[in-house]
Amino acid sequence: MAEDVSKGQDDSELPPLDDRLVASAAASLDASKIPYVLWGNYMLTIFGIPTVFNGMDFVVDDDFMDAAYDTLQGAGFKKCKSEGCNGNKKLFYAPTPHTHLHITESERLGLYKRSDILWRLPNLSNVDGESITLASDPNQLPGPDILGRRGRFQQDLHPVRVPTVSQLVQVLLLLAKKDQNTYGGYWINWISYILEFCTENGVFDKSRLTGNYKTYINAFLEGDHTSRDKAFECIGLTE
Ligand SMILES: [Zn+2]
Repeated sequence: MAEDVSKGQDDSELPPLDDRLVASAAASLDASKIPYVLWGNYMLTIFGIPTVFNGMDFVVDDDFMDAAYDTLQGAGFKKCKSEGCNGNKKLFYAPTPHTHLHITESERLGLYKRSDILWRLPNLSNVDGESITLASDPNQLPGPDILGRRGRFQQDLHPVRVPTVSQLVQVLLLLAKKDQNTYGGYWINWISYILEFCTENGVFDKSRLTGNYKTYINAFLEGDHTSRDKAFECIGLTE
């Protein structure tokens, strides 16, 4: 009897990059009890932000980084074979994942450390609806827009954890502060997208913000640069 030897081999192809593939990667991480949340441009599309993505990213608890890499490689994601791959370079305009695998040669799965990105969220497995929700949550996330573009995941997929938008805005302000001498502008761009698209579709509720975060966002929306800069000064890395 002929054996199916293609499955699991390094040269076998993964299914195309879509919600189903993201959910299956998340299912593999969950099966290995690895704390993670989805991150990156793919996450932004779930919030109804029409952005281009060429892969998927996860933030993983630092202690589980190696386990996450091995688990995903075991699930069919490929080891990087190119020294010239952008995933291995330090870029001046955007963060680079701690480590990455490939879906195709040009599509990557990036793994970021929790301590680099989401240090204020101690437990990436805790779906509390305040800081972390599910990519399929109909109460917090939009359906496809009028052009049929993306939005939340279907209910029948494996549940995928994502930061809530209000938590994300605070996280992005802290990242912009931490990285203000490098690619702080990269994170501020994400905030601009959220304010542009997620205010309209109701995903971002600025009344959930408090303190300097609230002052910053209100000043941002009003174009008040002085108040905005002052609030930014006051946002602390331990906040
Ligand atoms: Zn690579």
